[in-house]
Amino acid sequence: ATPTSIMVGTGKGAESGILFKGGEHLERTHQLDVIVLDKTGTITRGKPEVTDFTADEETLRLLASAEKGSEHPLAEAIVAYAAEQDLKLAEAEAFQAVPGHGIEAVISGKRVLVGNRKLLAEHGIPTDDAESELTMYEIDGKTAMLIAVDDVFQGIVAVADTIKDTAPEAVRQLQEQGLRVVMLTGDNERTANAIAGQVGIDQVIAQVLPNEKADKVKEIQLEGKKVAMVGDGVNDAPALAVADIGIAIGTGTEVAIEAADVTILGGELLLIPKAIRLSHSTIKNIR
Ligand code: ADP
Ligand code: MG
Repeated sequence: ATPTSIMVGTGKGAESGILFKGGEHLERTHQLDVIVLDKTGTITRGKPEVTDFTADEETLRLLASAEKGSEHPLAEAIVAYAAEQDLKLAEAEAFQAVPGHGIEAVISGKRVLVGNRKLLAEHGIPTDDAESELTMYEIDGKTAMLIAVDDVFQGIVAVADTIKDTAPEAVRQLQEQGLRVVMLTGDNERTANAIAGQVGIDQVIAQVLPNEKADKVKEIQLEGKKVAMVGDGVNDAPALAVADIGIAIGTGTEVAIEAADVTILGGELLLIPKAIRLSHSTIKNIR
C-alpha cells in the first residue's frame, strides 16, 4: 500500500462519512471475516418507547422514580412514559445499577427492583406467573422488564425499539461480501432473535454481560477469524478495542468513538459495506 493511495482512500471515506483514525485501518478492513453488531443503538435506533405496562399508577411512580437514576436508554423510555401521564416523581433515597440485570433503588421508603428474570431471581422473588406474558412480549422483539416493590412482584413494563430502515440492506450487502454477520446483545435471547429476524441475521449471541462482550469477540478471533465489532455504547468500548477493526456509531457515546478505529457518521449502517468496498479498491489500486 502506497501512502498516497491510502491517503486518497481515507479522504474518500471521510467524504462519505466513514472516518478512519489512520490509514492502517483502511488497509486492514478488506481482510475481515466476521462482523459483530451490537443490537440497541446499532441495529435499532436506540430510542425505545414503552408499549405495555401491567401494574398500577403508584407502581409506575415508583418505577419511574427509580429509573430516573439510570442512564440506560430503557430508563429514559420509562421516565418519558411517566412524564406523559404527569406523574410527580420522587427522589431516590438509594440507587444502584446492576449491569446487565437492571436497577435497585429505595423510593419513598420502599425497595424497588426493575430488571430481567435474573435480577428478581437473585432476590428470591418468583416470576413464574409472569413467564407466559414475558414470552409474548419477547417474541414481538420487545424488552420486557419485571418490577418488584418490597420484594413482591408487581407487573411488567415492556419497551420496543425499532430497527434502522437501512439495517436489512446493510446486513444483506455484508453477507454478499462473504462476511459472517453476528448480533451481540445483553438483551434476552427471544427479543434478540426477533430483532435479528427482522434484519436477516441468523447468528445471535444474547444475554451477554457488559464485561463479557470483549470476550465474545476474542472467542471468534481464536477461530482464526478477523473480526470487526460495531457498537455505540460505553458497554461496547472494550469489545471495540479488542476487535481487529472497531467501528463506532457516530451518534453513540464518546467512549465508544474513542475506543474504535473507524466511526460511521449518523450511524448509517450502509457505510460499513461501503468501507469494505473502499478498502478493497484501495488495496487493488496499489498492487
Ligand atoms: P443492551 O445490550 O441491550 O444495552 P444491557 O446489558 O445494558 O443490554 O442490559 C441487559 C438487560 O438488563 C436489559 O435487557 C434489561 O432487561 C436489564 N436492564 C439494564 N438496565 C436496566 C434499567 N435501567 N432498568 C431496567 N432493566 C434494565
Ligand atoms: Mg448499544
